[in-house]
Amino acid sequence: MKVHLLKSAEVNMSLFTKVIDFLQSITGPISFIYDLNTTAYYEDEEIFMNQIIDRVEFENKKTSISTDSLMNMRIFPLERETVDWDVLFKKSNQYRKNNNIPNDEFIFLLTNIANKQNWFASLDEKMPYNGFIHTDDWDYYINCSAAFPIAYEVIALALQKHMFEGLYELRTKVHESPIGCVNDFCYHKREIILKLRTGDVCEDCIERANGKISVPELHHALQIMSSLREKMLFAQNLKKFSPLSQLIIDPFNKIYLSDFGNIEIKLRPLEKALYILFLRYPSGIYHSSLSDHRIELYEIYATISSMGDLAEMRIRIDDMVNTLNDSASQKISRIKRVFEEAIGADLAKHYYIKGEHGQQKKIDIDRTLVKLLNN
Ligand SMILES: [Zn+2]
Repeated sequence: MKVHLLKSAEVNMSLFTKVIDFLQSITGPISFIYDLNTTAYYEDEEIFMNQIIDRVEFENKKTSISTDSLMNMRIFPLERETVDWDVLFKKSNQYRKNNNIPNDEFIFLLTNIANKQNWFASLDEKMPYNGFIHTDDWDYYINCSAAFPIAYEVIALALQKHMFEGLYELRTKVHESPIGCVNDFCYHKREIILKLRTGDVCEDCIERANGKISVPELHHALQIMSSLREKMLFAQNLKKFSPLSQLIIDPFNKIYLSDFGNIEIKLRPLEKALYILFLRYPSGIYHSSLSDHRIELYEIYATISSMGDLAEMRIRIDDMVNTLNDSASQKISRIKRVFEEAIGADLAKHYYIKGEHGQQKKIDIDRTLVKLLNN
């Protein structure tokens, strides 16, 4: 099974790459294909201004009362750019044509623009290998990166194509009341939280897929869903009581937490060099003495950064250890943020570089939990 992902111009690149990373983190027969240089654009006449008069209308796929507290405020009436479903599917069709993509490969458009029916995602009735996923509004419903539910919807759409004979069956056989299955209809958009938290497919729906999708593909899809579920629980700080995980640095210098579902901590090369330096010094390093470690940083950076010439590399390190600028502090802050987003604030504290202003900065983690597989 091949799934092509296309982004529209307004979708944030880091969100898009995060979605791809999540989907590709489990290997299997479903391949996810994307071209970072291709984006879909909307024509002016394709977009109209739509007014959502109140919270109720916003929270529902076309309309009932919910009195839950708001996670992220929206002010109503809310006027926003909106498109018709046809416009969304047209982008997939164009992409299919321009790139000669066969009719049995999925093309899902990820778009930040709202759609008239106010759905998170849907397949195209006329061409069920086309689909769209709305990338905005997730912050209103869940307190973690939108990349989790978006990646989940990619799998959900691909499964739905294979579980139902046509869109009519899909629209009529879904679970009207949520049971925590990928095929919950989620008329109230908030209900989506349940299926994200179970990351599951019910027995009836598994049966439905029987014979329509190969066993290895189904298994792969289910594994991705369950890995998303687990990663999302960490990201939401709901796993804060878990025993600490080993921190592994593999031969490709990837950092991951093996006991936390192999969550990868994605740092940029300079941040990674700084992080590895601090790992080597359990008692910590003063910010002001970072420049004493310049040579060591050159060495570490040379092993993890595949590109760039030596002179340029040294300039970057020199700049980072220069106490007159903010570079090292910014990197330390970003490392903290990456850990917090991945495993939640409570667990993250043990892994990131921290220390009071003017004091030594250090990483708390017990070094027996750190495994360097490259040495
Ligand atoms: Zn089901």
